[in-house]
Amino acid sequence: MGLIIYLNGEYVPEEKAVVSVFDHGLLYGDGVFEGIRAYHNRVFKLKEHIVRLYESARAIDLHIPLSQDEMTEVVLETCRRNGLKDAYIRLVVSRGRGDLGLDPRKCPEPTIFCIAASIQLYPRELYEKGLELVTVATRRNLPEACNPRVKSLNYLNNIYAKIEANLVGAPEAVMLNQEGYVAEATGDNIFIVKNGTLITPPPHVGILEGITRNTVMEIARGKGIPVEEKLFTRFDIYTADECFLTGTAAEVIPAVRLDGRLIGSGQPGEMTRVLMQAFRELTLVDGPVIFQE
Ligand code: PMP
Repeated sequence: MGLIIYLNGEYVPEEKAVVSVFDHGLLYGDGVFEGIRAYHNRVFKLKEHIVRLYESARAIDLHIPLSQDEMTEVVLETCRRNGLKDAYIRLVVSRGRGDLGLDPRKCPEPTIFCIAASIQLYPRELYEKGLELVTVATRRNLPEACNPRVKSLNYLNNIYAKIEANLVGAPEAVMLNQEGYVAEATGDNIFIVKNGTLITPPPHVGILEGITRNTVMEIARGKGIPVEEKLFTRFDIYTADECFLTGTAAEVIPAVRLDGRLIGSGQPGEMTRVLMQAFRELTLVDGPVIFQE
């Protein structure tokens, strides 16, 4: 059975959910989006995702003609119309239809759509054994050029890095910023653990400020674990006790190797396991309810 998609104010069958070839989201990657998860009849961290969407839109001077409350309802209703209590949700606002030039002023109305699909989980094995990472040559976008804090439709920077990882058979890439500091993975944030302290790069290094990242830091602080947002290099990953990635799709996933070197014992670490478990518990209780029961 096909999905029901929200598109520009209507809920339509998948076959009817089509956008113009003149849409600047397609022609230029001009737009913003969110990837969101629903767990057990609740949309996890929905408010945070909606706020980030509107902030990304603000940063690219894109006006969204729906209030944040209306957009929240769009997400919940899209899940309802598809009968989904567990879902991966994609919410997109593009600049909309314009002419062939790149000037956004030629696009009078944004295109807004929301897809709620059943989730494709990563293989369990990856969570038990941990991921292998490689550092790639492609540097993360310079914040002054194409700010990684904006969750825009322009993902070519990350795709370059993903291609490099694919070509050497690694499941994920570590991207550095222009100065050589560790930034993030292609679609996930990165953490290391050293001597009991949880460390992650600060937003100004040039990363997407992940909602999972923020959630994990909050969980850790709540458990009395020292948390630092600070610059670090590959050396610090090679010599870390533990390493993991965070993201809406991946959740919290251990990383056990970088550039062929084992990280710590080469097994998912103790703090990683504790945070993975606490994160899963939080997904059971956070966020607005989809179906009132
Ligand atoms: N960095 C990048 C580049 C991403 O695309 C994502 C996934 N949206 C993340 C980090 C993780 O962000 P979040 O936890 O909000 O999904």
